[in-house]
Amino acid sequence: MTAHGIHHVTAIAGPARRSRDFYVDLLGLRMVKRTVNFDDPTTYHFYYGDEAGNPGTIITHFPWEHVAPGRLGNGETEETVLRVPEASLGYWMQRFLEKGITHETPKKRFGETVLSFKDPDGMRLALAALPGIEREAGWTGGGVPAEHAVRGIHGVSLLLDDDAATGAVLTDVLGFEQVGREDSLVRFRAPGTSIGGIVDIHAAPGFLPARMGGGSVHHVAFRAADDAEQAEMAEKLVRNHQIMVTEQKNRDYFRSVYFRAPGGTIFEIATDEPGFAVDEPAAELGTSLKLPRFLESRRAGIEAALPPLA
Ligand code: ZN
Repeated sequence: MTAHGIHHVTAIAGPARRSRDFYVDLLGLRMVKRTVNFDDPTTYHFYYGDEAGNPGTIITHFPWEHVAPGRLGNGETEETVLRVPEASLGYWMQRFLEKGITHETPKKRFGETVLSFKDPDGMRLALAALPGIEREAGWTGGGVPAEHAVRGIHGVSLLLDDDAATGAVLTDVLGFEQVGREDSLVRFRAPGTSIGGIVDIHAAPGFLPARMGGGSVHHVAFRAADDAEQAEMAEKLVRNHQIMVTEQKNRDYFRSVYFRAPGGTIFEIATDEPGFAVDEPAAELGTSLKLPRFLESRRAGIEAALPPLA
C-alpha cells in the first residue's frame, strides 16, 4: 500500500539565523537542505527533518528578516505536533526550562500526552510523547541525545469554521480516515503510516479569520508516491470536490501541486521522490547552499544578498 500522510509543513519565520538556531540547536533537527525560495531567491528556504529528510519529518521555513507577526485564526494550521518517545517528555521539559522556552502544562489529547510550546516567531508547536517509538533512529547532530530526539511529525491541527468539507478532502483524496472526536476536535489518521499520519480539525465556527505572517503555517503538504498518484489525486479533487490544483512545480526534492482546501488552508500534494540526496551526498545534507539549476548562474549575487547565518 502506498504511504500517505503529511509530507512537510511550511511556515513563515523571522530572521534566518534565529530559525536555524532554534530548530537545529534547540530541537535537534537536522537541516537537510539549505536553499532559497525558488519563487523569491533573495530569501532562504530551510528544510529541517530527520537524518535523511524522509517524508513526514520535514518542517520548512521561509525566513523573512523583517516579517510582521501573523495572527492565528480560522483557515490556518493551529499547531504542528512532533513525535518524541514517551519517556523523553521529562527531558524536554527540563531542556525548555534551561533554555528559557515557555511551554504549557502537558495535556491529554486522544489519549496522548501533548506538550505545547512556541518557536521564537510564535509558531505553535507541540511534542507528543508516544509509546513504542524509542527504537526508531534519532538524529544526534544538534546536541539532543539520540534516545530523546524528535522522530518526525506526528500531525497538525487545523483551525476551521467547519470540519465537513475539508474532512471530505482528507478522506476521499489524501488517504485519511476519520477515527475519532473529542471536544471540538475531529481526528483523521492515514492508515499504515506512523509518521505524519494525523490531522485534527478544530472546528471554531465564527472565529476570526487568520492573518498570515511570522509564525504562521503557510501550507501543509501531503504525500503522493509519484507523479501518477499525484495526478490521480488532482483529478479526484476536480471531479468530487470542484477544486482545481495549480500546474505542477518542480521543487527539485519533490514535485508539487497546490490547492486551497475548503476551510481556507493551502494544501500541497508532494511526491515522495526524488528526495533530498538528489543534489548533494546524504552525509553532507544542508551543509552548503544548494540552488536549482535555473538560478545557478546567479549564485554570486544570490549568496551576497542572503542574510548571514554565522
Ligand atoms: Zn511545500
